[in-house]
Amino acid sequence: MNKKGVLIVISGFSGVGKGTVVKKLIEKYQYSLSVSATTRAPRPGEVNGKDYFFKSVDEFRNLIDYNGFIEWAQYVENFYGTPRKFVEDELAKGSNVILEIEVQGAMKVKEQYPDAVLIFLTAPDAVSLKTRLEGRGTEDAKVIGKRLKRASEETEDMPFYDYLVVNDDLDTCVDNVNAVIVAEGFKTANNKEYISKTKNELLEIRKEILS
Ligand code: ADP
Ligand code: 5GP
Repeated sequence: MNKKGVLIVISGFSGVGKGTVVKKLIEKYQYSLSVSATTRAPRPGEVNGKDYFFKSVDEFRNLIDYNGFIEWAQYVENFYGTPRKFVEDELAKGSNVILEIEVQGAMKVKEQYPDAVLIFLTAPDAVSLKTRLEGRGTEDAKVIGKRLKRASEETEDMPFYDYLVVNDDLDTCVDNVNAVIVAEGFKTANNKEYISKTKNELLEIRKEILS
C-alpha cells in the first residue's frame, strides 16, 4: 500500500518518561526520530547530535533567523527547536517521523501540519511524576519545582492533543503509542494514492473483461 509518512508529536510533563518511551519505541518499531536543537547544557551521558544539537544562544538565534526550525519554543530557562530539513526530507521519503517536543511547539506543528498526530504522555499520578523527576537526578530542587509548575500549566493544552497515553508499565506504554501510530497509518486520509490506484486497476480489469 502506498502510504504517506505520518508526523507524530509526543509531548508530556517533564519526567513522565518521554525520552525513555521514545528510545524504546524507535528501537522496537524503527521510526525516524528528529533530533532537536537546544541551548540547555548536556546532561551526563548526553551526546551532541544524538540526544540534542547543543547550541549557544547566539547560534540558536541564527538558526531562527535562517528559518532553520519548523518550530521553536522557550521551555523553563532554555530554547528548544525542531530542525526543518530532516523532518521535511523524511516525510518526503514517506517515513513516519517522531518529534519529542513540548506543548507550545506541538501547537505550532499542528498549525503547519494539520495531519500530524499529537500524543500526550502522562504518568499514573502526580506523585510518580515527582518521584521520576527526582529519581533521574539531573535537576536540582529549584528546577524540579519550575518543571512541575510548568506541568500544571501544560494540562491546559492537553485537550488539544489527539491521544492521551499513560506511561505506567513502560513496555505497555511503548506498544500503546505504536498502536496509535499504526492506526493513523490506516486512516483513509493517509491512503489517498491507494484509493485512486485501486480505482484505476478496477477500471482496467473491467475493460479487459469487456474486450
Ligand atoms: P522525560 O524525557 O519525559 O523528561 P525521562 O525519559 O528522562 O523523562 O524519564 C524520567 C525518569 O523516569 C527516568 O529516570 C526514567 O528511567 C523513569 N521512567 C521512565 N518511564 C518509566 C516507567 N514507565 N516507570 C518508572 N519509571 C520510568
Ligand atoms: P529536556 O530539557 O527535559 O530534555 O526537555 C525539556 C522539554 O523540551 C521537554 O518537554 C521536551 O519535550 C521539550 N523539547 C525538546 N526538544 C524540543 C523542540 O525541538 N521543540 C520544542 N518546542 N520542545 C522541545
